[in-house]
Amino acid sequence: MYFVANWKMFGNLKSINTLNKVIKFSKSKEINKGRLIYCPPYTLLNSFYKKFKNCLIDIGAQNCHENDDYGAHTGYVNSKMLKSIGANYVIIGHSENRKKGENDNLINLKVKSAIKAKLKVILCIGETLSEKRKRKTKSILSKQIKIGLKNIKKNSNIFIAYEPVWSIGTGNIPNQYELEKILEFIKKSFRGKAPKILYGGSVNPRNIMELKRVNYLDGFLIGGASQSAKKFIDIVKKTYS
Ligand code: PEP
Repeated sequence: MYFVANWKMFGNLKSINTLNKVIKFSKSKEINKGRLIYCPPYTLLNSFYKKFKNCLIDIGAQNCHENDDYGAHTGYVNSKMLKSIGANYVIIGHSENRKKGENDNLINLKVKSAIKAKLKVILCIGETLSEKRKRKTKSILSKQIKIGLKNIKKNSNIFIAYEPVWSIGTGNIPNQYELEKILEFIKKSFRGKAPKILYGGSVNPRNIMELKRVNYLDGFLIGGASQSAKKFIDIVKKTYS
């Protein structure tokens, strides 16, 4: 199982000390077969990389520019730059960025540039509450997958993170039956081998007992709760208990 920590726009140099507990945990037997990936803000990527040098925790970025070469794009960072400082993953298509105007075509360009730079892509997909109410979930997810992964031949470096927008940061999660149906739908929308699938949206040490029972899951994308080392470790431990 993969456990991806999305720190969003949180954290400073002092927060790095909170990682000591996670590093210790990652070297213990309790980690089981869990794979930990931290996605801090750009400003902390290199510090996290150095901090995790002697353990198996990986790092990823929370977004990238769509151009795979250097260029005059003030304020942006591309996949090649991320790879060069030790990132192995990048989150693309997070709903907080879709809300700001990132569309599926732009997301597709970002995915391509990330693959070219040999980063693993965590492609976020998910419906809003109003889309859910209008029973548009499946068509929205299909569109996000189809355009987001257009002309991507191999799925081996792709992870799909199903993150219902109405669940992010709200404490609400889909029920087991509902979630399983959607994950099955996502799996089946791929011909051949489907990518690994993560669930994201208000995952915490309380609801993980329910979420871990859901079929078709290869891990979790964890926002708010991942900023607490204790909660993050608890989520991993409980997944395997
Ligand atoms: C996220 O934004 O990717 C996320 C899963 O957030 P949270 O866990 O805080 O709902």
